[in-house]
Amino acid sequence: MLDYHLHTNFCGHGKGDPSEYVRAAIDRGLDEIGFSCHLPMLNKPDPYHAMPRYMLPVYFESLRALQKEHSGSIRIKIGIEADYLEGYEDMISYLLSAFPFDYVLGSVHFLDQWHFTSRAGRDQYSEVDPVEVFPRYYEEVRKLIRTGLFDILSHPDAIRKEFFQPAGSLDDEYKQVAELIRDEGMCIEMNTAGLRREAGFIYPHPDFLNICLDKGVPITIGSDAHRPEDVGRDFDRVMERLRGKDNVNIALYSRRKMEKIPLSELAWS
Ligand SMILES: [Zn+2]
Ligand SMILES: [Zn+2]
Repeated sequence: MLDYHLHTNFCGHGKGDPSEYVRAAIDRGLDEIGFSCHLPMLNKPDPYHAMPRYMLPVYFESLRALQKEHSGSIRIKIGIEADYLEGYEDMISYLLSAFPFDYVLGSVHFLDQWHFTSRAGRDQYSEVDPVEVFPRYYEEVRKLIRTGLFDILSHPDAIRKEFFQPAGSLDDEYKQVAELIRDEGMCIEMNTAGLRREAGFIYPHPDFLNICLDKGVPITIGSDAHRPEDVGRDFDRVMERLRGKDNVNIALYSRRKMEKIPLSELAWS
């Protein structure tokens, strides 16, 4: 079993250093993990949200050392979670190419200035209209995919909350996004933080997951842990959700190359 979405104290809002996450992962019986701290923000540096730029080489080298130290017990991948920021594509591309990352999670956390995934951003939900916000979110997601800069669409449907639901079916949005992901050779992430962030489901929403699987989009799995105790959290529920589904392929990454394996080959007890 893998967990490809781990944060650490490289960002101001993460707790615990990377070695604590490795220990937690080994204790939980994971055989592959990937770190995905937040790529430095290019529009307005914010060490609480994302590591400062000068820390990027330190991040990379300290994970390299951990990889070596634990090579006998667990595979450690060096990933990164990057915000899609319109107008900053060249700078994002430059930073991503400066290090041989294993994979890049592409995320939409903002709609204009609204950081809807943050604690402060939660209050603004009461001021916006779902009829306007949902289409905007999926348009941002489509733009993210079209940049070709990212490997994995991270926490799809992160805009959705139990208290903030779309007015009607999102199937048309989901189909368009799923086809783009497939055509770009990306995958989607099943992210258990949805259960902890008032979405009421493991991201993506079940309707979106089914459409992605129908279209042959592979998946990866992440806890979005921001503290060591959340590594591998609720993965039994991921397996429950996938049980009985045909043709589920898990995407693994090395140096930004995807390898697909059938779900049945994933060990998880
Ligand atoms: Zn974070
Ligand atoms: Zn995120």
